[in-house]
Amino acid sequence: MLISLIVPCYNEEESLPFLYNALCDVRSAETSYDFEFIFIDDGSKDRTKEVIKGLAEKDKDVRYVVFSRNFGKESAMYAGLQKSKGDYVAILDADMQDPPSLIPSMIRSLENDEADIVAARRVNREGEPKIRSFFARMFYRLINRMIEVEIADGARDFRLMRRCVVDAILELSERQRFSKGIFAWVGFRTKWIAHQNVERVAGETKWSFWKLFKYAIDGIVSFTVAPLRLATYCGFASAFAGFTYMLYYFIRAIILRIYNDVPGYPSLLCFILFIGGLILMALGVLGEYIGRTFLEVKRRPVYIKAEEDSRK
Ligand code: UDP
Ligand code: MG
Repeated sequence: MLISLIVPCYNEEESLPFLYNALCDVRSAETSYDFEFIFIDDGSKDRTKEVIKGLAEKDKDVRYVVFSRNFGKESAMYAGLQKSKGDYVAILDADMQDPPSLIPSMIRSLENDEADIVAARRVNREGEPKIRSFFARMFYRLINRMIEVEIADGARDFRLMRRCVVDAILELSERQRFSKGIFAWVGFRTKWIAHQNVERVAGETKWSFWKLFKYAIDGIVSFTVAPLRLATYCGFASAFAGFTYMLYYFIRAIILRIYNDVPGYPSLLCFILFIGGLILMALGVLGEYIGRTFLEVKRRPVYIKAEEDSRK
């Protein structure tokens, strides 16, 4: 049996040696399995590529793909999954925030047929800015209201999967990949392993608040059309309100015979601004979806390879 361990790396020259050692520990503990370590260099600007190639030279289990530029972690994970040949496949971060020491117990769970996917989940967010945790929690509540499958709060991309799950994931060939959603969407029996939040061993996070915000919007837009429906509801509500307002003036004019009360100007302005805002918002939401359709329709590849190991 072969186990593939996939590691997306972006500017991780400092963390990689730690991670490689930890992976070797796993390999020597699990003697009944063969291993392949697949490193994806996601267009790093430091010496990550050289580090990976150095590892590949002295270790025959190391395989790699080097991207032509930074395509993002989603693309790196996809490339890794495509390259993997293992019966069991795991994805883990290069910074040791996904503790490799959990891998043996994940393997046990699959062996005992308890699940098809064993996924890690952090139970706390210590060491993370408070405001970021707050928005993360809001995001999970929001998206879970809108989509048909459940995305667990604190779920990481760290997971060990059977081959059948990997094949299912690869079949979803969309360009705008939102893995948290894709993992949940393909289904299968999932077992959760809880662990404490671990801070990265070296280097720093690649996710700014703004990047995370865009990622959240991407996630929602690529998994549900609920915002479009929301725009429709808002439009409906404001049209109804407008109609009621009109009716009210009609009745006032016909029954109460009040014709001209000039001080209607501020309220009029408010309404125009409010409706204008709603229209713009709806247009923006629409634009998100049209833009996404545009990107998907172009059928561009998810990533471009610059280099790859030559192992078969
Ligand atoms: N990563 C990547 N491409 C990117 C950004 C990040 O491959 O454009 C990798 C990164 O090297 C790491 C993992 O994704 O292995 C998680 O990134 P990071 O630790 O910065 O995220 P955080 O743990 O702070 O959410
Ligand atoms: Mg990290």
